[in-house]
Amino acid sequence: MRKLASIQTVNAAEPIPNADAIEKIRVLGWWVVVKKGEFKPGDRVVYCEIDSLLPERAEFEFLRASSYKPAVADGAGAVLQPAGFRIKTIKLRGQVSQGICFPLGVLPAGAPAHEDADVTELLAVRKWEPPQTGTSGRTRGTFPGFLPKTDETRVQVLEKTIAKHRGREFFVTEKLDGTSFTAFVRAGEFGVCSRNMLLDTTDELSTLVRLAKRLGLEERLRALAAARGHDIAIQGEVIGPGVQGNKYALKEIALRVFNVFDVSAYRFLDHADVLAAVAETGLEGVPQLGTVVLNHTVDELVAMSEGPSVLNPKAQREGIVLRPLTEVEDDYLGRLSFKAINPKFLLKYDE
Ligand code: ATP
Ligand code: MN
Repeated sequence: MRKLASIQTVNAAEPIPNADAIEKIRVLGWWVVVKKGEFKPGDRVVYCEIDSLLPERAEFEFLRASSYKPAVADGAGAVLQPAGFRIKTIKLRGQVSQGICFPLGVLPAGAPAHEDADVTELLAVRKWEPPQTGTSGRTRGTFPGFLPKTDETRVQVLEKTIAKHRGREFFVTEKLDGTSFTAFVRAGEFGVCSRNMLLDTTDELSTLVRLAKRLGLEERLRALAAARGHDIAIQGEVIGPGVQGNKYALKEIALRVFNVFDVSAYRFLDHADVLAAVAETGLEGVPQLGTVVLNHTVDELVAMSEGPSVLNPKAQREGIVLRPLTEVEDDYLGRLSFKAINPKFLLKYDE
């Protein structure tokens, strides 16, 4: 689970060229711009990640002018998201700043004080969710328990994990900014899911269901399952008109696969096998950016995330996803797989 607000130690403080009132401090693998001298290395702080929505409290009022977001309600007036202050990636004097730090005094009495303690709920910090564009249509239930949900952890909280896997070979793919899609064949049944829901495959208005039909996914997955002799699922990103602003300026909705999953064995296929299965089914995978032997710092991986999209060189890519060539279970992370988000993309699109 992502910890939006946690207790962390300031690891370093460094000057910012041509700025004398501010400096940058290092917390986890993030750089945060602060008033000079406000925090020093070794200090314990409350660190709130980007995408935090801080509640309306006196301590956070100074954020009103820059960061206030009104409450969001549904048609019936029920509050979906309370009003608050949204923390996002910013740039100050040329320095990218991600997140915000507070002294431990913002915590109520009796709060935990140990490093890494999750204080998200104690501070009533929520995750900022951008306004929903479009709905997933009719559903038949929540996401099936026999499949993993798609998710990726940010490299900035994985300093120890990347150190542990130094020397291992990873493949790099472009992270596409669309919407998550899953299709499966299990016990003779074909199904389509959005990121969190099982969809009604008779819903002719659903973008995802229609795409599945147009691609003939049911037939293709049945053939793949038959060839492999086990139940199977594919997961990918749906991009194109009507999805996340169609940043790649595509003419048509498209699916780019990033996972192939053996449902019978509850196991992800290894990279080479995914490429083979994608080719076999005549589908398209996410853009492949090559392989690297991991010996990088967090900052180097963030730098690697910058660049144009393979799908449209005029668009910044959202970032990259790194995975080992053969699947690895990591003690801390679970499936070894993580993302580095391009700060330039965040500065441009993350309003
Ligand atoms: P966070 O976890 O940081 O709060 P989030 O849960 O909204 O944010 P995303 O930033 O959307 O997560 O990142 C994870 C998603 O990225 C996956 O669910 C998947 O749909 C999508 N994705 C896009 N391109 C790829 C790719 N190349 N490899 C793996 N996942 C990808
Ligand atoms: Mn996530």
